[in-house]
Amino acid sequence: MDTALANSRYTSDKKGIHNKYDGANAKDRRAKLLPFFWGTLGQQGQLYGNRDLGNMDEISNPYYFSYPGYNEIFTGYPDPRMNTNNGILNPNMNVLEYINKQNGFQGKVAAFASWERFPMIFNVARSGFLVNSGFMDFLDPNANPRFNFLNKLQKEVPKILGDSTRLDFLTYEMAMNYMNEYKPRVLYISFDETDEYAHQGHYDNYLNTAHQEDAFLNELWNYIQASPFYNNKTTLFITCDHGRGSGQNTGDRWTDHGKGTPQSNQTWFAVIGPDTPAIGEVNTPTKTYHKQFAQTLSQVLGLNFGAAADHEVGAAISTVAKK
Ligand SMILES: [Zn+2]
Repeated sequence: MDTALANSRYTSDKKGIHNKYDGANAKDRRAKLLPFFWGTLGQQGQLYGNRDLGNMDEISNPYYFSYPGYNEIFTGYPDPRMNTNNGILNPNMNVLEYINKQNGFQGKVAAFASWERFPMIFNVARSGFLVNSGFMDFLDPNANPRFNFLNKLQKEVPKILGDSTRLDFLTYEMAMNYMNEYKPRVLYISFDETDEYAHQGHYDNYLNTAHQEDAFLNELWNYIQASPFYNNKTTLFITCDHGRGSGQNTGDRWTDHGKGTPQSNQTWFAVIGPDTPAIGEVNTPTKTYHKQFAQTLSQVLGLNFGAAADHEVGAAISTVAKK
């Protein structure tokens, strides 16, 4: 919790926000806001991007908004043609599509997303893995009844983020139900609400959503650890598609991101899993880029996306997984 923003016109319930997330110092405040992130991930995993410690994580595309950001993460290639959030079809091979074609992974890759743009970003007509996004129903005649309930619920819930973006709890519950019933080997879950509330200038909603999504991650990790199918052979990788402007001084740059918003290329990522040394918050003066994630993820699975892709791919981050 940034106290300047919590005391600003961007926060309506100042008392409630202070009660929940205030603390003696920045470390106390961050632990209250994101207990799983700073507890489990910060002790048993790796956290990259704390610039106060000299560690930097950035996007390398020059646009600092969503479609270019997701293209960079999943193709490893910050293609300058991917420069819009409009529904253009992505021509570049992505790492999920590549994994879904490898032996033992066919039909075992899936994505659940709040934003409706992912079928274009992943080019589903070509790539062929399951992408459920926006207000798409999950349709499988053999699916458990819980999917029917979630399909019904997402039509009834107030569309407070408009017609193109589903609330994150629906995306999360669908993804968890899918994981439980279909046991995918690679699952991507994409949230959206923090970005929406920041654009609206609602700092309390922004923090409350971040806190809830930390709880989703905690539940997901507990599920993985308790499942004989996933336990001790599953890596959780968490990141975002871009940064935001600074909340310091006036705070007015916090709501935005993009080329005209300084520092919104600055991001972070977290990783935890059986191949990842537990170094916690990384304080080495290195800089990582999101174009390196696709190859890093393929290497964790013993695959080599870079050798198969039809375009350049950023190198794997060597510290994420032991050889
Ligand atoms: Zn945004």
